Amino acid sequence: MPNETPALYSLMNYADIKLGTWYPKGGMHKFVEAFEKIAIENNVKIITNEEVVSFEKDKKRINKVITTNSSYFADIVISGADYHHTDKKLLNDDANYSKKYWNKRVMAPSCLLFYVGVDRKLENLQHHNLFFDESLTNHGVEIYKEPKWPSAPLFYVCAPSVTDASVAPKGCENLFFLIPIAPDLKDDEETREKYFNILLDRFKKRTGNDISENIVYKKSFCIEDFKTEYNAFKGNAYGLANTLRQTAVLKPSIRNKKISNFYYTGQLTVPGPGVPPSIISGEVVAKYVLKNHS
Ligand SMILES: Cc1cc2nc3c(=O)[nH]c(=O)nc-3n(C[C@H](O)[C@H](O)[C@H](O)COP(=O)(O)OP(=O)(O)OC[C@H]3O[C@@H](n4cnc5c(N)ncnc54)[C@H](O)[C@@H]3O)c2cc1C
Repeated sequence: MPNETPALYSLMNYADIKLGTWYPKGGMHKFVEAFEKIAIENNVKIITNEEVVSFEKDKKRINKVITTNSSYFADIVISGADYHHTDKKLLNDDANYSKKYWNKRVMAPSCLLFYVGVDRKLENLQHHNLFFDESLTNHGVEIYKEPKWPSAPLFYVCAPSVTDASVAPKGCENLFFLIPIAPDLKDDEETREKYFNILLDRFKKRTGNDISENIVYKKSFCIEDFKTEYNAFKGNAYGLANTLRQTAVLKPSIRNKKISNFYYTGQLTVPGPGVPPSIISGEVVAKYVLKNHS
């Protein structure tokens, strides 16, 4: 059992995130809209759909941020993008940590997701549904110790339309299936489809709902999408695993050691993964910058 503790801890922590989730009416994007509103009220100019591709430096300071469309003068730069991507792809020689350091990190799981729309109401479902009807130990081993696609996956189903009528048309359900998997596995369409069929079978067996003939919308998202859409290291979904050696001061630092006006924020630095900690991370770095640069 002690050997399985990190896997168990991580999966239970994941379940805990799920069960403890606070859900705003209209979905999680309502948080984004609320933050956008506060920022605009405080004269922040938000520019979207531009990828940062490099920086221009003057001695030990970044003075320009170069994006796919333009470039911007900068007094202070805070990167909220994946820490490894910021270090290895954007800062290169000025990276805080080496390739060896990153390869020694234990990453939290990635996941295979399916967004599914169903044209009828379903029974025996709650907003959050955890399917822990297979071996947690085996699934943990297949995530951390012997990384491979799970032989009998545990999974989570979110059915927000059970509690929030605004997220699906009348008489329909909005479902979100999630299987935690090891990061950096080979991810292709055939594998995704294989697991979708496993999910449908287990969902039917455990809830009595056969949805195979009622699917009106289906979209998958997995490791390759986390890499291409979020630049996520190894296609991880939740940053670093919560192990003792990657906790608190042992997490990647918010300050760049070589560039005096460069900072990092988000789930790979302090305090860690999850929506609330990532928001707090922004607050931590903002306070640090205000204290040291005003
Ligand atoms: C399926 C799933 C379910 C989850 N469920 C929960 C939950 O129930 N509760 C919870 O608390 N947490 C949950 N999490 C975790 C939570 O979503 C993350 O911890 C959090 O969103 C991380 O925030 P972040 O700001 O660090 O990174 P992100 O939200 O990934 O934001 C980083 C942004 O940087 C952008 N970016 C990357 N590279 C560049 C570049 N070069 N130029 C410009 N922009 C760039 C990315 O596109 C992205 O928009 C879940 C995560 C997943 C994937």
